[in-house]
Amino acid sequence: MSKPIVKCPTCEKQQEWDSSNQFRPFCSERCKQIDLGAWANEEYQIPESKSASDYSSAETEEHVDRDGAIPPTTH
Ligand SMILES: [Zn+2]
Repeated sequence: MSKPIVKCPTCEKQQEWDSSNQFRPFCSERCKQIDLGAWANEEYQIPESKSASDYSSAETEEHVDRDGAIPPTTH
């Protein structure tokens, strides 16, 4: 009952103010991204597969590089 009602600046949906909502005063991440202009730049619509392949190739590179770069340790 004590939670104030706030209006999302993007979609104007009324919602309870929730301090655990990291997107406040927006109702959702989507509305926050719209407000930031990410939708217009299509930055927010990059498929996950791209970052996944980036990650795996970077990981492979790092692994190979590490194998060649680290000198053998002597006991
Ligand atoms: Zn909204």
